[in-house]
Amino acid sequence: MPAASPPPASTPLSAIHGIGPKVAELLGKLGLLTHDDLLHFVPRRYEDRRHLKPISAAQEGQAITVRGKIHHAKTVHWGSLRLEITVAPQTLENRDDILIARWYGFRPYGIKEGCDVFLYGKLTRDKKGRWVMGNPDYEIAHEDAESYIHIDRIAPIYNLTEGLTQRVLRRIMFEATQKIAFSAPEFYPAPAQMMPRQEAFRVIHFPESFPAEERARQRLAYDEFFVLQCVVAQRRMNRVQLHRYRPAHTSDLSARWLASLPFTLTNAQQRVMREIDADLSHGPPMNRLLQGDVGAGKTFVAVYAMLRAVEAGEQAALMAPTQILAEQHALNLRRWLEPLGIRVDLFTGNTKGKKADRLQGGELDLFTLKGGSTEPSVLRTAGPATATLKTAGSVVVGTHALLYDRYAADKLGLIVIDEQHKFGVLQRLALSRKGENPDILVMTATPIPRTLGMTVYGDLDVSLLDELPPGRQPILTKCRSAKELDKFWAFLLKQIGEGRQAYVIYPLVEESEKVDAKSVKAEFERLKELLPQVKLGLLHGQLDGAEKERVMTAFRAGEIEVLLSTSVIEVGVDVPNATVMLIENAERFGLAQLHQLRGRIGRGEHPSYCVLVGEPKSLEGWRRLKIMEETTDGFRIAEEDFKIRGPGNIFGTEQSGLPPLRFASLETDYELLTLARNDAARFLKEDPTLARWPGLREKMEAGGVAAVSLVTVS
Ligand code: ADP
Ligand code: MG
Repeated sequence: MPAASPPPASTPLSAIHGIGPKVAELLGKLGLLTHDDLLHFVPRRYEDRRHLKPISAAQEGQAITVRGKIHHAKTVHWGSLRLEITVAPQTLENRDDILIARWYGFRPYGIKEGCDVFLYGKLTRDKKGRWVMGNPDYEIAHEDAESYIHIDRIAPIYNLTEGLTQRVLRRIMFEATQKIAFSAPEFYPAPAQMMPRQEAFRVIHFPESFPAEERARQRLAYDEFFVLQCVVAQRRMNRVQLHRYRPAHTSDLSARWLASLPFTLTNAQQRVMREIDADLSHGPPMNRLLQGDVGAGKTFVAVYAMLRAVEAGEQAALMAPTQILAEQHALNLRRWLEPLGIRVDLFTGNTKGKKADRLQGGELDLFTLKGGSTEPSVLRTAGPATATLKTAGSVVVGTHALLYDRYAADKLGLIVIDEQHKFGVLQRLALSRKGENPDILVMTATPIPRTLGMTVYGDLDVSLLDELPPGRQPILTKCRSAKELDKFWAFLLKQIGEGRQAYVIYPLVEESEKVDAKSVKAEFERLKELLPQVKLGLLHGQLDGAEKERVMTAFRAGEIEVLLSTSVIEVGVDVPNATVMLIENAERFGLAQLHQLRGRIGRGEHPSYCVLVGEPKSLEGWRRLKIMEETTDGFRIAEEDFKIRGPGNIFGTEQSGLPPLRFASLETDYELLTLARNDAARFLKEDPTLARWPGLREKMEAGGVAAVSLVTVS
């Protein structure tokens, strides 16, 4: 480390030569307050201004950078400006070297005849066959003492704010990267073969070449991963040092339950139960992720873990992402657990289709499932002022409502979170605070890509349920166009005649002028006429809780033959007699979502059929749907989805608990991440408190990664 510590990374921008109060204010609008902020402000793209191609060599549709003199500028009509520029004046006779740049709705500042400009944009041809660029990025080229910063180099292009030009910002960046010693340089020793951190910051802004830029990015990405991995490793260390009080078991409920099962557990289920046993037999709280494809039988594993908690005299809570799923779980649990004398409470918010999260402190229903009755009795609490509802059951099933103050756990020993990817890290944390270091089992059918497994889920132990229960019939999946729907209805009638049931899924609840897609309400009315002989049911998120419950009960009982629904039934719903699914406007659903939806069929002994009707606009869209035809392997589907949409969209970056990554990519930097993880583990082993590296500690705290852990370490 350098002898004198450099000024901190928080050095204000006014210390940088040439930044006056006005520019500082503009930079503030971009969130740039300190020198360190500047360094981390990654260029949006680069322009290689050393090798500019003539327009005549370009292709239509391509985005390129051109440089040229403005030959002619004229305002075509009010509010918009049309400029004609020639890129190479000496070849003016070649009409193909003329480019017409058009700006709509605003006048590009400083552009006039005779200007030397850089333009970047997509090339198209107008009706007369001339090259046109619409609303291009522009920058006026000045040949002056400073031009080496802007011209004849790979120039960084940044996001701007009104009043700030590329030129001004680039000069500031140049200055900032020259004064790199301002920010704490190496805050720990990175692998020797990597570009030094200071240099990496300089190169990421002003690369000499694109390979150099990539090496710089890798170094900075490594640093991001390294900090993250230190946090994950430290959390894990803290957790295994926790000691959770484990009361002695007083009963043999789980053994009795296992003996009463009508079928044998799969090997995978048995293996995972043993893994859970091992977790529950020693001090640190369990923090386990159970991954298993749809239909793999995760619920039984959860029931087993819950019984273990109840045996120890503790309460077990199961949180599910939707009311429908919570109710289904409550029904099943009641069927299995009441014979053992265990009471199951259902705790859901009376949300009427609104987001449960927003109803904090609002009205809650407490359905108490009493032995013997088929309908749950509903205890409705009067309003926000009522006292906390203390749950009496040893097992509590619920939705997000479990997170609120109204649910006061009674010796909460185990938390099971079903379909974990539907919840955010903070929600898991909130629930775990209702007990004292409770055991946590999170379950997901959406395979977690390995990079996320090492970051967001980095401090969880992972169990895999990689085997389906025997006797499952494969699901035959076909992509069809809307024209072939008549054939489908004929097929559907035949299946119903054989006693089967079906789902039909639509993307919308109600017709919308903005979205060209079918809605469940309109199709319900239409199908009532088209298929008068069929008993139809209607389900969507806007129905209130009691109505949803009524519909699902009727569907389970076979009183509804075809259930028309939105994706509210996406997760968990389990009606083995339903063997047919039609998904309309399938292109509007993500792959993982289609897989989840399709997982509602193929759950029983009869062969199942899934038909995807869609009109994808692109080849890529077709390719996606075809993957559904090819495979029912959730892992393969998730990988494809991950490639297409990225982890942020699947797992919701804002709820993943992950700090924003500026340089690193969870899609492509698997190797860097592995390297960083191994380094972090070694590093922390040598110096667990990081006493020697205050810079690193600071970064870990600043990273906003506190939420990565499931377990509160208080
Ligand atoms: P998921 O993993 O998707 O949550 P579930 O727990 O809902 O799966 O189980 C799917 C279906 O498989 C349920 O109907 C359940 O009763 C049944 N099932 C689970 N385990 C077994 C098993 N070992 N043998 C036979 N059927 C099973
Ligand atoms: Mg499930």
